[in-house]
Order: sequence, then C-alpha cells, then structure tokens
Amino acid sequence: MTQIAVLGSMNMDLVAYAEKAPLLGETVTGRAFRTIPGGKGANQAIAAARAGAMVSMIGAVGHDAYGARMRETLEHSGVDTDSLRTIEGPSGTAHIVVDDEGGNAIVVIPGANGTVDHLAPGDEGVIACADMLLLQLEIPLAAVVAGAQAARRHGVRTVLTPSPARPLPSELLDHIDLLVPNEREAATLTDRADPRDAAAALLDRVPQVVVTLGAAGCLYLTRDAAPLVIAAPRVAAVDSTGAGDTFVGALAVALAEEKPIREALSWAAAAAAVSVQREGATESMPYRPEIEAQYT
Ligand code: ADP
Repeated sequence: MTQIAVLGSMNMDLVAYAEKAPLLGETVTGRAFRTIPGGKGANQAIAAARAGAMVSMIGAVGHDAYGARMRETLEHSGVDTDSLRTIEGPSGTAHIVVDDEGGNAIVVIPGANGTVDHLAPGDEGVIACADMLLLQLEIPLAAVVAGAQAARRHGVRTVLTPSPARPLPSELLDHIDLLVPNEREAATLTDRADPRDAAAALLDRVPQVVVTLGAAGCLYLTRDAAPLVIAAPRVAAVDSTGAGDTFVGALAVALAEEKPIREALSWAAAAAAVSVQREGATESMPYRPEIEAQYT
C-alpha cells in the first residue's frame, strides 16, 4: 500500500441554514444547524485514505469536543492520527451561513491550526516514510515551507493546493513538484484569467501544474510535454463542496501507485465525480471500489 502524509488544517464547520444571511446588526431565524468536520488538510487526508492509501495526518486540534470528534472522523476513515496534536486552546472552526440560494458567508477562526507553525519532533520521520506529502495553505506558511523542505530532503514528492490563494515565496515553490489550483486560485496567483495562460505562467515556478475546472474537468501542464485536457465524467451534481480535495486526495494515491499521468487524472476526476453526486464534503468522498466503478 502507498503511504501519504498530509500536513494541514482541521476545522469544525458550524453551518447555519437560513432563508437569507443576516446583515450587520440584524438577527434572522434560521432553519437548521449542522456541525461538519472539515478543513482542507483533513478533507484531503480522508479522500486519500478512502482511495486506498495509508495516510498520516500531521496537524493540531484543540482540547474540546470538536477536536475529539475530528480525530474520530479521521480514524473512522482509516487515517493515522498519531501525529495529530491536541493543544490547550480551541479547535479551528468555520462559522458558515448558507442561504436558500446556496450562497454563503464564512468566518474562519484558525484556533489550533494557527499553532502549527513548525514541524514537531517526529513529523519529519513521518514525512520521510511517505511516498507523497500533501500541503495546503490553511496553517501558518512557516510550517508548510518546513514540510516541503523536509520532503525534499528525503526525496518525497510534494503536492500543494494553493488555497486560500496568496503570494507564494520561492522557498516554498522550489520544493513543490505538483501545484493544483482551481481556476480562481490560478487566476489570483498569476493575474491571468485564462487557465491555460495561468498554468503556463505557474510552470516557471513548479515543474507540473493541474488546474481544476469544475464540471469542465482539468488541465495538466508540464515543462517537457504537450498539455493534457481531461474531461470530467458527466454526472448529475448536487453538491460540489470538497470536490477539489477529493480530486487531490485521489490524484495523490494514483500518482503514488505510479499510474501514468493521464490515467491518474482520469481516476481523480472519477473520484470527484462520485463526490459531487452526494451531499457534504467528507461524507460524500468515495471509497476505492466506488472510484473504480465510476472510472470504468
Ligand atoms: P474546487 O472544489 O477546489 O473549487 P473544482 O470546482 O475545480 O475545485 O472541482 C475539482 C474537480 O472536481 C474538477 O476538476 C472535476 O474533476 C470535479 N468536479 C467538480 N464539479 C463537477 C461536476 N459538476 N461534475 C463532474 N465533476 C466535477
């Protein structure tokens, strides 16, 4: 089995559903409330574990009920949480209002994620044992850089999801093998609206780029071959929350298994296509047999 390490965030999403979001100073009565484990780090870890890899999650939760539930959620999907620290403050939370049109407003409080600003003793060993390290930008940049550098020292491939999009220093990108922005992130990072132009610009800084294009699939560019366009399977989408994280988790597993790039991208697109047909982020992520069924 392949080994994947994820260094990143865990949030509890606290979601209020209301006809409309309140304006400043206004109070509205909503319809429902749900607590949903999320955060891009945890999402990618769960996606990769369900896709068939041994996954270790490096990060932190708070000493509270949310932290305990998030740890359980990871373990339930088979993710190793030995490198997940429990710190004395609160867990990361995302306070979300979803209105009847599907629009949302979100306040994220990093909580424990904000304390992950360096590698703890033992983290480098976990990264060294992995075939691949998955990174995102929801923990302090210093830790993301340290993780990428540690991976490079041990010959471990790195995949970065540049979300939330922000300027990326060379000390990070010099150690990234594959960058996977969505269309908006690619445009923000490069000031180029066309995804192909954006991907071409990003190739100056990393050797491989995948831009995900929602229902339109994805675009892959590398320095030494022609671009690939992979269509997404046509499915009846009901909720695309977490589609990008499902895609990245499955792609990492396929690449760690040494599938050729075209096949790996199609496999990841199959995984994401399963997830968009169901409600939720982590709840909707497919297990390997479901990916295989959609792929063939
Ligand atoms: P993000 O969730 O990060 O915004 P995208 O919306 O680009 O990312 O979606 C990531 C991937 O999920 C796409 O490349 C595609 O493979 C898949 N996907 C997203 N929406 C759909 C859809 N409506 N139908 C099929 N696949 C989809």
